[in-house]
Amino acid sequence: MASLEEYRRKASFDVRRMLTEIEPQENREIKKKVWHFLASNPLFHEDYTMNGDSKKAKDRTAQQLKVFLSSSGLFANIDDLTYATRTKYLLLVNEGLEIYNANLSIKLALGVMMFSNALNCLGTERHQQFYKDIWAGKILSCFAITELEHGSDTKELKTSAEYDHSTREFVINTPGIGAAKCWVGNLGQQCTHALLMAQLVVNGTCHGLHGFVVPIRDPETLRPYLGITVGDIGEKSGLHGIDNGFIMFKNYRIPRENILNRLADVNENGEYQTFTDPLRMLGASLEILSAGRVGIVNESSNCLLRSIVIAVRYAAQRRQFRDSNGIEKPIIEYQTHQYRLMPYLAATYAIRNFAMEFSKQYVHCVGLSRDDSADMTGVYQSVGGIHAVLCCSKSLITWTTQRAIQEAREACGGHGYHKSAGLGDLRNNHDPRVTFEGDNTVLLQQTSNWLLKLFNETSDRDFSEYPLCLVKFLTNVESILPKKFVGRRKEDVCNVTFVTECFEWLLCWLLKSTNEKMTALLVKHNDRFVARNQCQVFKAKELSLVFAEYIIISHFKAKIDACQDPSISSVLRKLCSLYGLWCLHSHLPLLYQGGYCNTPALADCLSDGVLLLCEAIKPDAVALVDAIAPPDFILNSAIGCYNGKVYENLMNAFRKIENGHFPLEYPDFWKSKL
Ligand SMILES: Cc1cc2nc3c(=O)[nH]c(=O)nc-3n(C[C@H](O)[C@H](O)[C@H](O)COP(=O)(O)OP(=O)(O)OC[C@H]3O[C@@H](n4cnc5c(N)ncnc54)[C@H](O)[C@@H]3O)c2cc1C
Repeated sequence: MASLEEYRRKASFDVRRMLTEIEPQENREIKKKVWHFLASNPLFHEDYTMNGDSKKAKDRTAQQLKVFLSSSGLFANIDDLTYATRTKYLLLVNEGLEIYNANLSIKLALGVMMFSNALNCLGTERHQQFYKDIWAGKILSCFAITELEHGSDTKELKTSAEYDHSTREFVINTPGIGAAKCWVGNLGQQCTHALLMAQLVVNGTCHGLHGFVVPIRDPETLRPYLGITVGDIGEKSGLHGIDNGFIMFKNYRIPRENILNRLADVNENGEYQTFTDPLRMLGASLEILSAGRVGIVNESSNCLLRSIVIAVRYAAQRRQFRDSNGIEKPIIEYQTHQYRLMPYLAATYAIRNFAMEFSKQYVHCVGLSRDDSADMTGVYQSVGGIHAVLCCSKSLITWTTQRAIQEAREACGGHGYHKSAGLGDLRNNHDPRVTFEGDNTVLLQQTSNWLLKLFNETSDRDFSEYPLCLVKFLTNVESILPKKFVGRRKEDVCNVTFVTECFEWLLCWLLKSTNEKMTALLVKHNDRFVARNQCQVFKAKELSLVFAEYIIISHFKAKIDACQDPSISSVLRKLCSLYGLWCLHSHLPLLYQGGYCNTPALADCLSDGVLLLCEAIKPDAVALVDAIAPPDFILNSAIGCYNGKVYENLMNAFRKIENGHFPLEYPDFWKSKL
């Protein structure tokens, strides 16, 4: 077996310096606290010999949550923190937890963090007791939005909360099974309260979806209350520790005070009131809708990281086939293997950086929307932009991670399929992120709508502030579009400047051609719904995804430009160029279709450039994964450990099935002869 140490010695940079450059010390300290707590308590030790018994997994995750909340000490001062510090802190705790135990992190996020966040942004003093109880572990919540018949189209949700003047209560009803809330995490067996989104009806008038705190089960006995039919939806493909559930209501009553009334209320006289500045409402919506998506971006970037750490370490050790000199080659030396892994390694660095930077911007923007002295018109522009950036980045990052995990699994061959490798669970647990908190394909439409709107009205905008600074290229569309590819050699494209310019050209062309198609469809059908629908494939959807890649690269470029250490910036620049070229290579049909080049030169340069950079990054690959890898306990993979003992670890994993001995098991064809 090739030694990981041999590859470590080939690195062109100092791993410690890289670590300091890419993640602030204080972030790592918070995650370390989480990891030390998990490692110190056997209840949290994730054992890959556990089979997929979901009943046990659900009980265990519930127990873990209780202990994590009460004994980790991580939440002792949560109320003393300002909004911005608390949000940042909770995102990091969630990240630290997720990389080791996705079930527990999701249970905590849904059951405590998102609920308390919703109380903060949609509730008022009235709801403080819920806030205190949730952090004290006395109650557990869920977020009930999706119904059996409708998910993405929330306007069609049918669960209603009708105000009863005589008792000053809301009466909740589920009009038929199609309106049963379903897929709701924590609802199946354990939550005591739901944050329910239901149509508010007052005096026969429907005022649309509003949030309500709805008691579901007695916190002492966990028995559901009368008027509710609630249950677990059963087996899923992954996330076995989460009790996803369904619920139906029949004339179920809750007090008037349980409506989350920061934006709108039903007053004591039974009158419906909205009293918030519409711009502030937008800020609150951003806070509630986006917090989960920001979490997903961070979580996904960690899954991506985990898969690439495992696959690169394995590739540096695994040898297959001898060359003409009789030397058995580590598989990382093969061109195909480099092409399979190095772009995902580059993507990991680019996406991790984006996730960290974007989280900061998000917290800043939400902070402004809560600040009474802030200029609300500016905030309004930022909120719309942050939402658009988040919609496309959540989609791109979850999809990239999904593909990366599968590639990593295959790149580790048969051993990658063993449960102890960690990649199978990682894949199954990550998979639904492309769907929940907004289906990716649907979310992408929101980004393209925003971009097209800006494209058609750039003149009166100020592009200096985040996130509008990300679309500053829109002020130069006229000068960008006539540009042509003039490079001849691969060296001409292996740099961040080329990557950025090429992306800007592609974005301008996609905007122009999507806009033209949309306009023509509008003329033809006179129906915006039809027009939007018919220009998604090859146009609007591509536009959003290309934009997501571009902003990830822009954030990475800014990071590199600010880096003071030449040995670090040099390798980061290679990673940024590789990620950019790899993405652009997948858009070659569009680049040719739009006339950016009409000779084979562009395709040749991009292909050669990608291969050149893959090879150039290879000697640094092991050090690059070392710099981002969590400790072995957290990575939890027999084939991805820092110590490189792949075969010893695997054999231990094989034997662990029966206390270190091989089980006395006969294959089926033997049994028939016995
Ligand atoms: C593991 C898991 C946990 C979940 N947890 C929760 C939870 O805690 N609380 C909760 O409320 N919900 C939860 N959900 C539900 C989740 O939020 C929804 O599944 C999600 O919003 C998508 O809605 P849907 O399933 O109805 O899909 P649909 O909206 O029916 O979409 C189905 C397909 O149609 C496509 N599609 C839909 N509309 C369009 C369009 N206009 N144009 C093009 N294509 C379109 C989509 O891309 C998708 O591929 C969870 C789901 C999963 C899988």
